[in-house]
Amino acid sequence: MSVLEIRDLHVTVETDAGTTPILNGVTLTIRTGQTHAIMGPNGSGKSTLAYTIAGHPKYTVTSGSITLDGEDVLAMSVDERARAGLFLAMQYPVEIPGVTVTNFLRTAKTAIEGEAPSIRGWTKDVKDAMKNLRMDPKFAQRNVNEGFSGGEKKRHEILQLELLKPKIAVLDETDSGLDVDALKIVSEGVNRAKAESDLGVLLITHYTRILRYIRPDFVHVIVSGRIVEEGGPELADRLEEEGYDRFITEAGTSV
Ligand code: ADP
Ligand code: MG
Ligand code: MG
Repeated sequence: MSVLEIRDLHVTVETDAGTTPILNGVTLTIRTGQTHAIMGPNGSGKSTLAYTIAGHPKYTVTSGSITLDGEDVLAMSVDERARAGLFLAMQYPVEIPGVTVTNFLRTAKTAIEGEAPSIRGWTKDVKDAMKNLRMDPKFAQRNVNEGFSGGEKKRHEILQLELLKPKIAVLDETDSGLDVDALKIVSEGVNRAKAESDLGVLLITHYTRILRYIRPDFVHVIVSGRIVEEGGPELADRLEEEGYDRFITEAGTSV
């Protein structure tokens, strides 16, 4: 059992206009085995939260804390975060020229585990995971994210999730740009990872659609860098009907 604790997190970003506060006191606790959905309008700070957990250098934590099982995540390098069991799937994954999917995955697995997996076992694991996600075996030999379609990027993220077996996964807009079939396959992958390894999931999304396939235990609504409402899955159903307008008005902001 692991727990990721985010306490009163304040984050700023440097822009041309100077230092801009984006997160204004976010508090959230995610345990392994739980699925939390973070929902909010565009520009509310969802990706900023994901990037901050990932350790992206553009985002400065001005106060508050993030710990994983009591260990200070903010003091860890990006690599150390991955080794500690955090997994971040990015909204805009980067291209890695000259590195094939299979080598990328094996390098990542080696970095996380501290030793290289046996070739034979690893090849089988990759093959099985790709089959589960209905991916063409040729995909393993392509360069990471080079010319990947939106759906391929998402499947590649979930492939990593299934193979790297993190404790807590942060999935930022995993649903964006997917047709219904791809969304189902990707959601099945997340649900399989949850079933296999007691994974904790922080599912960041603007739309409620993915929550039909990955049922959250908790839903948090973020507006203007603050969590303004929390509840169970029924809160997502309400958002589906009512949208975010009510929360935006209550938070006294325009987005
Ligand atoms: P969301 O993911 O909820 O759409 P973001 O976290 O991407 O929101 O953005 C929140 C706010 O912070 C937006 O106003 C956005 O323009 C600003 N912001 C986020 N990241 C950066 C950045 N790297 N540079 C400048 N502004 C940023
Ligand atoms: Mg956005
Ligand atoms: Mg975003």
